Amino acid sequence: MPSCACPSEHGRVATDGYDPAARVKALEQLLVEKGYVDPAALDVIVETYAHEVGPMNGAKVVARAWTDPDFRARLLADGTAAAAELGFGGRGGEHIVVVENTSRLHNLIVCTLCSCYPWPLLGLPPVWYKSPPYRSRAVIEPRAVLRDFGVVLPETTAIRVWDSTAETRYLVLPLRPEGTGGLSEDRLAALVTREAMIGTGLALAPARADA
Ligand code: FE
Repeated sequence: MPSCACPSEHGRVATDGYDPAARVKALEQLLVEKGYVDPAALDVIVETYAHEVGPMNGAKVVARAWTDPDFRARLLADGTAAAAELGFGGRGGEHIVVVENTSRLHNLIVCTLCSCYPWPLLGLPPVWYKSPPYRSRAVIEPRAVLRDFGVVLPETTAIRVWDSTAETRYLVLPLRPEGTGGLSEDRLAALVTREAMIGTGLALAPARADA
């Protein structure tokens, strides 16, 4: 079984009757008391991922890939190196694999073990990504899960599910929406949602982004 360094509760921990949040709090207090961690340093890490690192980073990567074919090729060949070109990398992004949606193939990302996620590009994972129903159903019935998210794909579009681990984390390169030929990279990035980069959504049409 792959190891995991996620900050989330694992399903098996949550089912033993203890509140994971209380358990984390108690563990943090113990480590602080023993001098193993500095609470100020923990605060900086949490603040950084909550406010400075988020899906806007991944959206910039996607917009660049949509407008620069050479970058797109580098991104698909080595996601970690290409993201680093835009200044994105570090913990949780040591090995990023980018998978490209096409009209015939839709990619969906999950971490069946817990919640592994490309932090430098998407920030912290949403609650639903960590939930046991998403983690199991994404593999068993991905088309139904997509429908729950409002994404109805033609039956001719295959769905490929990628299971993240602490070692390898995935980002979806969504299809570029129709009618965006003249848009700047910044305008394009505004069409790229977090869900589109996980595969539970599609990039927005220009009119919806402006609404
Ligand atoms: Fe995980």
